[in-house]
Amino acid sequence: MRPETRTVRLPQPPVTGSTPITVPLYQTSGFVFDDAQAMAEGMSRPDGAFVYGRYSNPTVRSLEEAVSGLEGGVAAIATGSGMGAINSVLLGLLKPGDHLIAQEALYGGTAAMINELVARFGVTVTYVPETDPAALRAAATPATRLVYLETIANPVGQVADLPAMCAAARELGLTTVVDNTFATPVLCRPIEHGADIVVHSLTKYISGHTDVVGGIAVFADDALYRKVWHFAIELGASADPFAAWLTLRGLQTLALRMERHCANAQLVAERLADHPKVTKVHYAGLPGHASHEVAAKLLSGSGGVLAFDLAGGRQAAEAFMRSTRLVLLAPSLGGVETLMLHPASTSHRALDEAELARTGISQGTVRLAVGIEHAEDLWEDIAQALDNA
Ligand SMILES: *Cc1c(COP(=O)(O)O)cnc(C)c1O
Repeated sequence: MRPETRTVRLPQPPVTGSTPITVPLYQTSGFVFDDAQAMAEGMSRPDGAFVYGRYSNPTVRSLEEAVSGLEGGVAAIATGSGMGAINSVLLGLLKPGDHLIAQEALYGGTAAMINELVARFGVTVTYVPETDPAALRAAATPATRLVYLETIANPVGQVADLPAMCAAARELGLTTVVDNTFATPVLCRPIEHGADIVVHSLTKYISGHTDVVGGIAVFADDALYRKVWHFAIELGASADPFAAWLTLRGLQTLALRMERHCANAQLVAERLADHPKVTKVHYAGLPGHASHEVAAKLLSGSGGVLAFDLAGGRQAAEAFMRSTRLVLLAPSLGGVETLMLHPASTSHRALDEAELARTGISQGTVRLAVGIEHAEDLWEDIAQALDNA
């Protein structure tokens, strides 16, 4: 062959008689077949041969199997973002005229998407408290299809009573979707408590290093998985192999990181609760929190996110955030470094004062996504910033 052809057709490395220790990155958009029949077969189902990157990829499949196994599911669909996973599920399962029951405290992107479904796609929604199965039963109509919950909500940390809510949904024949991003499968596995689908933003704790945007939906049931898969491949929210590869690398230390996130958050929460400039600390690991009992039953740790209210309101919150040296002002959470933000002006800016108050957020609320640094370094930084608040 001539150079023009040789440069195009690279030799595939032979891998026989041994396997790589870590999962290789299959950075390819498609796969070669000997036979047209085999290719057609691969495209028609999720468990056939790998054909095309938007359908599946070996590196992405490894991530899907890893997270599915951790959550106790039968299969998973990895996506390009957490919202990609949430939308694959909502759009893949709802149709005009269907009714959705969702908990009141929801991630901002999910709340905005549900508003779109209602305004433009003929779906109706009823919001219920995350711990009230009687409200769920009362909200159900013959058109209800899905129940949507979050294990730990942002930023004040309400914990859903998953066993009670999933049982009520099951009695009514409804499919329950749980966003388990804040808890991760290390702290809680919603399928064990009756959930049908678990969604994650892999961007947060599972990848864990603030360098990936990704999502995943895990299914307790094969029929549900196939239904959403057929929709998701056309939606085009697929995961990129490199993002999946980075996420697998992060996943290997998830259990260790969660242990430190929880321990650091608990220490910071307890010290904040004793500080004269702090009027309230929102962390389910503290006895005074509304979700403390549910969390103690359901979770093997209260997670790494907490929020606290400053006596001096918005001005004090802004002064605090200007004064930290170690803690960074940035969106997102779940990475190794501690990040903070002001929910009222950023993640929850779409809410008016009454809605903010109902959610438990004030102008003086600061959210901390506590990282895995040394707890005393963190506390020293927080304490000196509080002096200026
Ligand atoms: C970040 C987040 C999402 C959205 O995930 P992206 O990866 O940003 O699309 C959904 N749910 C929760 C709880 C989140 O924290």
